[in-house]
Amino acid sequence: MDNTKFIEHCESKLNEKFNLIDDIAYFNQKKVLNAFSEYRIALRHFNGTSGYGYDDEGRDCLGKVYAKVFGTESGIVSPHIVSGTHALTVALFGLLRPADTLFCISGMPYDTIRGVIFGEDNGSLKDFGVNFEYCNLKNDKFNYEEIRKKFNKNVKVVYIQRSRGYELRDAFSCAEIEEACKFVRGLGFNGCIFVDNCYGEFVEKKEPTEVGADLAVGSLIKNAGGGLAPTGGYICGKQIYIDLIGKRLTAPSIGLEVGSFSGGYQYFYQGLFMAPHTVAQAIKTSLLIGQAMSELGFINYPSINKMPYDITRAIQFDSAEKMVDFIREVQYASPIDSFVTCEPWDMPGYDEKIIMAAGTFVSGASIELSADGPVKPPYIAYFQGGLTYEHGKYALEKILDKLR
Ligand SMILES: *Cc1c(COP(=O)(O)O)cnc(C)c1O
Repeated sequence: MDNTKFIEHCESKLNEKFNLIDDIAYFNQKKVLNAFSEYRIALRHFNGTSGYGYDDEGRDCLGKVYAKVFGTESGIVSPHIVSGTHALTVALFGLLRPADTLFCISGMPYDTIRGVIFGEDNGSLKDFGVNFEYCNLKNDKFNYEEIRKKFNKNVKVVYIQRSRGYELRDAFSCAEIEEACKFVRGLGFNGCIFVDNCYGEFVEKKEPTEVGADLAVGSLIKNAGGGLAPTGGYICGKQIYIDLIGKRLTAPSIGLEVGSFSGGYQYFYQGLFMAPHTVAQAIKTSLLIGQAMSELGFINYPSINKMPYDITRAIQFDSAEKMVDFIREVQYASPIDSFVTCEPWDMPGYDEKIIMAAGTFVSGASIELSADGPVKPPYIAYFQGGLTYEHGKYALEKILDKLR
């Protein structure tokens, strides 16, 4: 079978899943449009401001629109948040105080968050006297017995990471997150249930904040920015928590009254408008790659037999060489820097050398077609994004040329 026929064959097995994805995208598109309509978004909201940014309507309404979409009381959406890690950091430092405990129930958090939580003498939460506990998963599910054992009255924030990060597990569904929220409430917990929502936005018809979580945090150069937001992060949740976090984002005495962005907000609004569709393109791309790699005998997650709960796909290779080849082909298939050959390097925030293909319009944006991973056994490439399904298909064709 030549590559074109092989891809057609893979696609023919995905029709049912693609229909479900279209249905979710339509549902979420309506949700976003309803939020725009409720806040009467108009051209004036795109205007930038300067200096303190008092009465910056674009900024304030963007937070409100996000809050509506995430089903929360309030929201912060800011170009001053530099990445997902920064959004998570601002939120955690806003909520936690010395002697409080942060309790992560989804295993060890994502690499770049570890230094934020328990780095030594780098200004981490630990340096400020905040304790950290975590619970490993059991067969990739929440380990409720362990959670019950480790839970104590000092826990102020229960932390759930929805997506896999650089781990070999599937993302949590909102149904699983709902069950976990009920469980910790059942233990008498009345603090903040906090979700690292990176890569999970618009993958389902609900967000974690609609099923019991108090706060959802993510990056705008992933799902929520729809491929258009040039930078930034969001934090949506209960008003009391957003107020605390707003005081940390700016300063304790001024909170969310300030913050200007002279570049204006069009791409933040337009990105949110695009996000349900863009996420659908990325999930379809992930499924196509998953189907093809499965048929070629490569172990990959999530299982091709189930619907994904985030936009990422982990693909295992039997050698560093094949892993590196795969990632290089993703780069060669990119619109930007297609002439670059990827090499592993010491990325800030990671312990091992990481190889990363990101031939993206927005630098490093992983809602755009990208692939990365630490080059060490078991040689897993993490593949995600794709602004258009056609781009994903083209990348697959190049990968097949190389691997088959
Ligand atoms: C991407 C990601 C983050 C944040 O990463 P940034 O690169 O800082 O935006 C945090 N948690 C998870 C699970 C992620 O996938």
